[in-house]
Amino acid sequence: MKSARLYGPRDLRVEEVPCPDPQAGDLLIRVCAVGICGSDVHYYEDGGIGANRVTEAHELGHEFAGVVAALGPGVEGPPLGTRVAVDPAIPCGTCEFCLEGNPNLCPHILFVSTPPTRGSLVEYIAHPASLVFPLPEEMDFADGAMLEPLGVAIHTVNLAKLRPGDTAAVLGSGPIGLLTIQMARLGGVRTVYATDLIPERLAMAQRMGADEVLQAGEADPVAWVEELTGGRGVDVVFEAAWAAETVAQAVAMAKPGGRVVIAGIPSEDVLSFPASAARRKGLTIKLVRRMKHTYPRSIALVQQGLVDVRSLITHRFPLTEAREALELAAARADGVVKALVEM
Ligand SMILES: [Zn+2]
Ligand SMILES: [Zn+2]
Repeated sequence: MKSARLYGPRDLRVEEVPCPDPQAGDLLIRVCAVGICGSDVHYYEDGGIGANRVTEAHELGHEFAGVVAALGPGVEGPPLGTRVAVDPAIPCGTCEFCLEGNPNLCPHILFVSTPPTRGSLVEYIAHPASLVFPLPEEMDFADGAMLEPLGVAIHTVNLAKLRPGDTAAVLGSGPIGLLTIQMARLGGVRTVYATDLIPERLAMAQRMGADEVLQAGEADPVAWVEELTGGRGVDVVFEAAWAAETVAQAVAMAKPGGRVVIAGIPSEDVLSFPASAARRKGLTIKLVRRMKHTYPRSIALVQQGLVDVRSLITHRFPLTEAREALELAAARADGVVKALVEM
C-alpha cells in the first residue's frame, strides 16, 4: 500500500509499504480522507513536538475517515464496507485517570500519528473497533475526518463552562478557532470577538458566527477588546492561535474572574503571560488536552446541520501529493483553512 512517511523536517516521501494486519479487537480500515492538522505541520516543519521526536520513518495524520475493509480476530462488526469516522486516541481504559472519566489524560495513551503509533496518511490502517463510529448517510468522508478537530473544539468549549449571555474572544481563526466560534455560539455566547493574522480566515470567522473580527498584526487585539467592551474584558478567552504572544493577550483581555482556555500548541513549548495580571484578576486558566467522549455528539451536530465543518475544507490533494498538502498548511498560503488528503 502507499504511505506518506516523514524522515525528518520537511522530508516527506510517498512509498510502498506492507499493508498492516488487524490484530485481535481491531478493524482494518481503508482510509478515504485525512485532514492535515496543525500538529502534523509541527511535526513536518520541526521533526517533532516537545519531547516527541521523529527518529525513523513516520506517518502523520490523525483526522480521518474511511471504510471497514477487514475484521480482526474476535471482532463481529460493523459489516465490511461500512463508512466510519475514527477516534485516533487509544487510551488504556484501566488506569486511575481513565477510570476517573478522563481517557484523554491517560499516561498510557497511544495516538494515531504520535510516535511510535503510525499515522493515517496511508491507504490502510488497523485500529481498535471500539474507537470507530459509523457515519450517517448525510455525512461524507471529509465530514468524518473533521469530527476530530470538532471534538477538540467541543472539549475546549466544555472546559470554559459557558453561561448563556457570556461574551468570548477567540484568538486564532484556524480550524480549531472556527469550530470553537461555532460551538461557543451554540453554547449561548452573546458576542464573539475573533482575531487572526489572515484576512480570509477572518471572513470565514464572520460566516461562522463571530460578531467582531480583527486582523492581529494590523492592530493590538487587547486594546481592541478593551475598547469594544468598555474596559471590562470578556468572560471567556479561547486561545487557538498556536502563537507565542496570544496567551498573554488572552490573560490581558479576560475580565476579572474570567476564564482562559488554551487550545493552541506553542512552537517553543513555553507558555508565558504576566503573572500579576492573571493573579489580580483571579483568572481560571485551563489547558486543552485533545478531547474525550465527543464523537457521538459531534456526529449528531454535523448530521443535524448545527455545525458547519464542510466550509472549512479549502483544499484537497491525493495521497501522492501529501507533501504539497503539508507545505500549503505550513505556509498558510492561498487562504488555506483545512487541507484534506483524499484516497
Ligand atoms: Zn488534529
Ligand atoms: Zn488509562
